[in-house]
Amino acid sequence: MNIILLGPPGAGKGTQARYLVENRDMVQLSTGDMLREAKDSGTEMGDIVADVMARGALVTDEIVIGLIREKLEAKTEHGGFIFDGFPRTLAQADALGDLLAAQGETLDAVIEMRVDDEALVERITARSTCANCGEVYNDNTKPIPADGKCVNCGGTEFKRRADDNEESLKTRLMAYYKQTSPLVGYYHAKGLLGVVDGLASMDEVRASIAAVLDR
Ligand code: AMP
Repeated sequence: MNIILLGPPGAGKGTQARYLVENRDMVQLSTGDMLREAKDSGTEMGDIVADVMARGALVTDEIVIGLIREKLEAKTEHGGFIFDGFPRTLAQADALGDLLAAQGETLDAVIEMRVDDEALVERITARSTCANCGEVYNDNTKPIPADGKCVNCGGTEFKRRADDNEESLKTRLMAYYKQTSPLVGYYHAKGLLGVVDGLASMDEVRASIAAVLDR
């Protein structure tokens, strides 16, 4: 089963994707993670996208579709793909449909995670992650333990994303509403959309997602 997690930055897509990877043997395809990797390893593509990402704007459809194409063409056995942060434009959505069809695959569900803007600003500006396992922390609601060790893996290094600041977030939210939110209607029309309250407790969000996937 192949699914999309759709929602603004800070909606909890990454956290829920990690849970699905552990519990359903699915594979998370996060274009944001792929682009950050390219940037950190200093590839030519990384240099091209660095400035765009720092501002919070979208990189070109061509680049992200290319990244996803590579992953889909490398056939491996697993419980399905979770597209996290992709597609973000109608052109990317069309391309994903074509790429899946070319592999004889289908898109089975699109989960829209709804969260209001105020909560997003709080979540994003207070966010850090374990550098080793990606466990997500929040300065106010889930601080890094006093002993400085990750609750999940015991790692002692934590990082904050360069674009997790109020200025970039404004651009990222604008990009979401202008370019990505039309996908809600696009997938609703295809009968694939399930809506989840991203402000509910972690367990409730997990349960709502499971209800959409198992319907
Ligand atoms: P994310 O980790 O999903 O929040 O993505 C971080 C940044 O990477 C975004 O603000 C964009 O600059 C870029 N990015 C990630 N995915 C895409 C995409 N599908 N299309 C365009 N830009 C993307």
